[in-house]
This record gives sequence, structure tokens and C-alpha cells, in this order.
Amino acid sequence: MVKVNENFFRIEREYIFPVIEKKLDVIREKQPHLDLCNLGIGDISKPLSPLIAQSLTTAAEEMVKRPIGYGPATGYDFLKKAISSVEYPDQGFANHEIFISDGILSDAANLQELFAPEAKLGLPNPTYPAYLDANILAGRDRTGPNADNLSNVVFFSCNQANNFRPCPPSDPCQLIYLCSPNNPTGSALRRDELQNWITYAKQHRAVILFDAAYVDFISSPEVPKTIYELPGAKEVAIEMRSFSKSAGFTGLRCAYSIIPKELVINYQNREIPLCQLWRVRQNSKYNGTAYIVQRAAQTALSQEGRQQAKNQIQAYRRSASILIDGLLNLGFEASGGIDSPYVWWKIPTDTPCWEFFDLLLEKCRILSVPGIGFGSEGEGYIRLSGFADPATAEKAINRISNVSLSIYS
Ligand code: PLP
Repeated sequence: MVKVNENFFRIEREYIFPVIEKKLDVIREKQPHLDLCNLGIGDISKPLSPLIAQSLTTAAEEMVKRPIGYGPATGYDFLKKAISSVEYPDQGFANHEIFISDGILSDAANLQELFAPEAKLGLPNPTYPAYLDANILAGRDRTGPNADNLSNVVFFSCNQANNFRPCPPSDPCQLIYLCSPNNPTGSALRRDELQNWITYAKQHRAVILFDAAYVDFISSPEVPKTIYELPGAKEVAIEMRSFSKSAGFTGLRCAYSIIPKELVINYQNREIPLCQLWRVRQNSKYNGTAYIVQRAAQTALSQEGRQQAKNQIQAYRRSASILIDGLLNLGFEASGGIDSPYVWWKIPTDTPCWEFFDLLLEKCRILSVPGIGFGSEGEGYIRLSGFADPATAEKAINRISNVSLSIYS
């Protein structure tokens, strides 16, 4: 009899976003006309730009005229060239260092396959939950099949004491996930802080999987726009980026990972470039991102595409700043919302996250995400998403300010 992968039963919490979506469905069914401020899962709230839609249509028409079948598993050269020249003009990555995929979620979950099972994991707490869950499913969160859960993981605290910007731990770890600007705390690592991580990675011969999903929200000059701005990063880091939030592609699916040729791993006294191994992996397990989607991504990188994306990001940014300014003006403790669409609100009472989430929903008609869904250190916090109209953000702040103070004391 075939046995199940028991790791499925070791994920202790349900994945947060479907839980929130389920709650939303229940509310919509019961009260279809409820005027809800949706500051929840962080999906885009603006429709696809007509320019992107047009490029999808044009690409589909091309497929009617001539057969366009399987493309290269690692992505088309036209998109890689656009990524290299638009996103990394100073680094000049070659096509073989760029890997197109259907999302950072897949890359963040799959890149761990490059490393031996015993490579010690390092994860921020709280952070995007997929990193931990994917590693639990792969069984690499523990030191062996009979070892304790999470025995192979070092967690880096992202809390008030370090302004939600984690520092390298004293314990050694080799496979490090960093998310900056971080989801959910909205904090972004400064240049010197990121440099400390690079130094740490070099010392421990570690690899950093750097999730830059929110790079387009960065506005502080001290926050680098890519990890590769920093000396030594090419030897230790894989950067993951996505069109999801930068160009409204959450429903289209297109992202990419940079694996610089300088990033090598030692095997039997030979230095093997990880980009070579990832090519093998993608050829074996991935048949490439849809042609029309890659053409649309290329359009998103055109001058006009970038301008349209910028306008959308500006609107989300405005909502995030309404949320953070509003909460601070009301005397609450909150952070984020400057280099990120997310605002991290400290619950002003001892009320557990999920209870406060329910209170916000019931009394203010605001959908949020409880911080605990992102890790144990998220308890005591609520994440509000700026992926909403500025008018919705204003309304949410008014509701928070108008509701009886009893929920805050
Ligand atoms: N990484 C982070 C930090 C995210 O917050 C998200 C989505 O919310 C993703 C990755 C998923 O990105 P993609 O849509 O490219 O899979």
C-alpha cells in the first residue's frame, strides 16, 4: 500500500490567505450588500491595464497565425533581455542567469531543492508563510525523519526591539530566506543591514533566497532596490522578483529569479554554478510560463508599461500612507506603509489576534489579516493592506476612529 507523505500533517496552521478568503465568502453570502473595507489578503484591487490586455491579445493572435508551442523551460530570451536591461542595468545579467517562472511562490517553494536535506534553514519570524510550509512539506525543517519538527530551522525575530528588521543570528544556518520589504511587517532592510547578511552568508557559506516581491514600493534612499547593489551579493544571493504586484499580474502569473554565475556550490572539490543546476531542475519539472504571459510581461517593462505600473503603485502607496498616518494620528502604534504596501498595527490591548480581527470585522467592517498567520512573533499584530483605493483606506481609518473606544482598551 502506498504511504502518504506524512509531512502534510506536520503543518500546524492552515495557510492564512485561503482562511481569510473563506471568511470573506461567508460574509458576502450572508450580507451581500455589506460595505466592507477589504484590507485583507493583499491581492491587487485595480484591473489589468489595457496596454497589458492588448499585448495578451496580440500574442494570442500570433499563436493563431503560427504554432507557438513549448517554449524554453527557463523563459524566452526576449523577456530575459528586457529584465536585464530595465531592471538590472548596472549588473548586466546574462540570459542564462535569469529564470522566468509562474510566480515567486513557486520559486520560493522550489529553490530549496537545490540544497542537501541537512542544510540548516534560516527564516524570519514573522514572514511570508509559504517559505516554512514548503520546507515542511519537503521534510527539510527537521534534522531527520524522527527528529522534532522545526529542529533544522533557525528563526530570526522581526519585532519591535529590532524595528522589525532581523539581524543575522549567532547560530549558523545555510539556507536563508529574507523578504525585504517584508510581508507582513512592511519593514525594509537598510543597505548596512543587508550587507551584514551578505557577510554572514559568506562566513557560513550560506545562500540567501531574497524575496523582492515589493521592490517597487521602496522609497527610502537607504533601502537598496536590489541586493546586487551590495558588494559580494552575487556570490551568495538569489533574488526573486515578480510582475504580480509591480504590474498587476497576480491573475496572469509571471515572475523571475536571478541566479548569478558567481553563485557556486562546492561538490567533490569542484565549484558548481547553481544556475546550471537550476536549469536542470526547471527542464525536468517545469515546461515554461505561457508565451502570451511572457509577452505581456515584456510589455510591462516597456516605457509605457512602466509608466502605467508606476501610476498603479502610486495609488496603492497613497492608500498605505493613509493607513499608517491615520493609525499614528489616532495614537496607535504601527509601522510599515512607507517602503511597502503593508501596515503593521500593534493591537492596543491584550486581545489575541484572531479576536481582534473579528472585532475589526464586526465593529468596523474592515477585513484585515491577523499577524499570527505569519509566524508566532506576529501575535499581537494586525496587518492592513494598502492594495485598496485611497477612499477605502480613508473610510477604514474613519471607522477605526469612530468605533467605541471599548474595543481598544
Ligand atoms: N512573496 C511575497 C513576500 C508575497 O507577499 C507574495 C504574495 O503576496 C508572493 C511572494 C507571491 O508572489 P507571486 O504572485 O509572484 O507568486
